[in-house]
Amino acid sequence: MKAHDGMYIGGAWRPAAGQDVIEVVNPVDEQVIGTVPAGTAADVDNAVRAARAALPEWAATPPAERAARLAALRDVLTARADEIAETVTAELGSPLKFSQAVHAGVPIAVAGSYAELAATYAFEEKTGNSVVHEEPVGVVAAITPWNYPLHQIVAKVAPALAAGCTVVVKPAEDTPLVARLFAGAVHEAGLPAGVFNLVTGLGPVAGQALAEHPGVDLVSFTGSTAVGRQIAAIAAGQIKKVALELGGKSANVILPSADLAKAVNVGVANVMSNSGQTCSAWTRMLVHRDQYDEAVELAAAAAAKYGDRIGPVVSAKQQDRVRGYIEKGVAEGARLVAGGPEAPREQGYFVSPTVFADVTEDMTIAQEEIFGPVLSILRYEDEEDALRIANGTVYGLAGAVWAGDEAEAVAFARRMETGQVDINGGRFNPLAPFGGYKQSGVGRELGVHGLAEYLQTKSLQF
Ligand code: NAP
Ligand code: MG
Repeated sequence: MKAHDGMYIGGAWRPAAGQDVIEVVNPVDEQVIGTVPAGTAADVDNAVRAARAALPEWAATPPAERAARLAALRDVLTARADEIAETVTAELGSPLKFSQAVHAGVPIAVAGSYAELAATYAFEEKTGNSVVHEEPVGVVAAITPWNYPLHQIVAKVAPALAAGCTVVVKPAEDTPLVARLFAGAVHEAGLPAGVFNLVTGLGPVAGQALAEHPGVDLVSFTGSTAVGRQIAAIAAGQIKKVALELGGKSANVILPSADLAKAVNVGVANVMSNSGQTCSAWTRMLVHRDQYDEAVELAAAAAAKYGDRIGPVVSAKQQDRVRGYIEKGVAEGARLVAGGPEAPREQGYFVSPTVFADVTEDMTIAQEEIFGPVLSILRYEDEEDALRIANGTVYGLAGAVWAGDEAEAVAFARRMETGQVDINGGRFNPLAPFGGYKQSGVGRELGVHGLAEYLQTKSLQF
């Protein structure tokens, strides 16, 4: 059988239980580029059984050997970087250069970081008359979205495997092809059968069956708040561990002492990147009233330059959703200074890079995650006002602060209710914990904090 006909379960491609398929569409030209099986509860059950069967041996494998397998996986991903980038470009629509640098580059870095952590982490420590062993949580269900399709898989699978857990992944229906490519890479890297399993399918069918399966010990979910809430409720019913990464409405706070042009230009680039489909995007720009008009002009000019350079959004559904938010912004009285609701092209799921001025806190576009290339610029009176606005949403995932003096920016950042803050344009760090305050989620991914999510402690007293 051809690899693409089945599910990757127990170390082999196996036929799906049912006949239904999901069509994968290229968002640039709306053409069907492939199909994958639409998994059912029966496929999920097979995959969870395979993961459970593989758990005792993998959990007992010395961490140094698990590290060696993860290093092999990183090497296979590196060798296949071009294929990864081309696949993500085909199913997500992101420009190839961005796919190479981010959609392929970041997961390779994250896989490498867990190869190192597995080798160096102290899975055992002494405290008083106890020895504390950190043991794998068990079988992990990973339910992932389409916006950074390989990164979000690797950010769950790599730490889970490093910890000694086994995994079943249900990737997003819009981007299953890179997930299959990843399964092939796991196979080539020589991970034991059943340690990693992949079931493609629809969220309410395969995803829900996976979250509900009693053989799953931890559900790690990234996606919408609505689905995250359902998953948390299922987990609560079964006293299962749960990790949720649910998006945000992050603030980019430009203090009066900042380099305004730089802060605005980097801020616009941050929002337009990946066509705005980034949970940590700085979608609210906060500017002092004395600099407001200048910032709006700079942002409008910066957004206009993007034109066609950003890709489409992932699907017709997302395009409708984003354009609906733009119409709502206009209806609620915000001022369009770049872009707008009209589609910039006849074909493909494109949305114009859009900037709104005169946005006030109470507006929908200042509160809800749009997940498209749409920036809202808000005016503040003084620093306390800026802080109040920055903290004034249900979310708290990321953010940025710009100031002439780094210490000034840090002092402000320490008062923000959010999980990550970039100071004067600080760079992404794959070792820094990533995750939300408030309704942005529960738990942390990446680095040593991400590893800890997949471990539980056992204390022996002497
Ligand atoms: P979503 O439905 O929450 O999708 C995330 C994952 O959950 C996908 O694998 C999805 O499968 C699965 N899923 C859906 N319903 C499920 C259920 N009842 N039980 C178990 N799993 C289920 O998100 P979306 O519809 O693709 O996007 C909607 C909005 O969510 C976006 O506009 C954005 O605001 C937000 N979002 C946030 C992030 C983030 O990184 N935090 C990522 C993506 C989306 P299917 O692919 O089959 O739906
Ligand atoms: Mg969905």
